[in-house]
Amino acid sequence: MNNFKNLRGTADLLPDQLIKWQNVEKIILEQLCRSSVKEIRTPIIEMTELFMRGIGEGTDVVSKEMYTFLDRGERSCTLRPEGTASVARALIQNGISSKPLQKLWYMGPMFRYERPQAGRQRQFHQLGVEFVGYESVRSDIEIITLAWDILEKLGIKELNLEINTLGDNIDRSNFQKAFLKWLEVNKNSLDLDSQKRIDKNPLRILDTKNVQTKKILEDAPRLFDFLSEKSVQRYLNIKEQLKLLKIPYLENFNLVRGLDYYTHIAFEITSGSLGSQATVCGGGRYDNLVSQMGGTETPAIGFAIGLERLILLSGNELEESRETDIYIVNKGNKAETLAMKLSRKLRNYDLIAELDISGASFSKQLKKANKLKSKSIIVIGDDEALKNQFVIRLFNNENLKNMEETISLDDAIKLENWLEKNLLLKRSSLS
Ligand code: ATP
Ligand code: MG
Repeated sequence: MNNFKNLRGTADLLPDQLIKWQNVEKIILEQLCRSSVKEIRTPIIEMTELFMRGIGEGTDVVSKEMYTFLDRGERSCTLRPEGTASVARALIQNGISSKPLQKLWYMGPMFRYERPQAGRQRQFHQLGVEFVGYESVRSDIEIITLAWDILEKLGIKELNLEINTLGDNIDRSNFQKAFLKWLEVNKNSLDLDSQKRIDKNPLRILDTKNVQTKKILEDAPRLFDFLSEKSVQRYLNIKEQLKLLKIPYLENFNLVRGLDYYTHIAFEITSGSLGSQATVCGGGRYDNLVSQMGGTETPAIGFAIGLERLILLSGNELEESRETDIYIVNKGNKAETLAMKLSRKLRNYDLIAELDISGASFSKQLKKANKLKSKSIIVIGDDEALKNQFVIRLFNNENLKNMEETISLDDAIKLENWLEKNLLLKRSSLS
């Protein structure tokens, strides 16, 4: 027999781990809802061309990390490495001009062929938010505060916001000319990876992790010095507003981000508690992407948060799930039928009612209820079932024996009274 294993860089998420994931997702979704951001779902698989055009062929993601294959019709397909290009495609395809302003979010798996390590996988998950059609500095601020507030709501500590501006196309090409001249002179002092980038994507050299190259780059021309007056003003305005909102930030002139489509503000949020894979959120403005992909000129800004890193960062309190309210111990033909009816009734009260369907002995069923730490317990044997009754009591609390009550299945009032008194059932949840 073959012992199958999951592919390297992918992970099974098991029920106990998923409690935390679900709690994290719930907090995120609530905050998105409060900020009036709406969900969009696009396919996980797209035409390869979409990412080549959207993300840029010189980027690491496109040149080294994509899961690309030919389907049976010989079409080149790619598992999405990120969500922004797909969202832009979906909006163009569905008539962006009829709805020029949209605040959207998506959440789901992304695929990149990278070296797996803590916080870095080949199949990982992102929450992405895109404000499409928004041009103002206020939208820049709104998106940064949204990312910041989500991370704060999750109780994540040691957050740092780093910002930079990449200017517009003209600023960038002016800088690139000067930078290329400098690179020509200094080429041989750079690391090999950076040398290779000179022809393909020189801006990315600024993002190098190579210590020696970093040092040499200190003398290179700076993008900031090539920004137009308007671009500079825009950036200063953003910094001013962040100060007003008391969101602390650091400026990082080397923050250029991995994807080609960014313009003006680029930002990352890191956490000191993450170690080497410190970036939990990356985002920025991408005013050219939609038009570059064939749509009308549409400014936009967005961010993506890596959920695996978020899970590593968020606290243990999020590992707790709702406790079982009632465990239904039952044995015997009649008892089983009554138990089934009762469990459905209880769930209509929004209670967690676990029906034991094991058919095991009463004592084994009680042991299970004990292990689960169920708040209360119902016991039904055929004797009770014959009278259409059941016994309910708080579990594991001998002193509260007096709370034990025999109730008839049809006596809704008595049942509700008991639940209200002992399980704090709110009358408002009754339908
Ligand atoms: P990094 O520098 O860590 O490779 P990136 O710049 O490639 O990040 P983005 O494309 O900006 O990442 O994606 C946004 C976020 O998605 C990252 O900040 C990170 O939290 C998460 N992320 C990216 N790649 C991975 C991965 N392979 N595994 C887990 N999370 C990832
Ligand atoms: Mg990366």
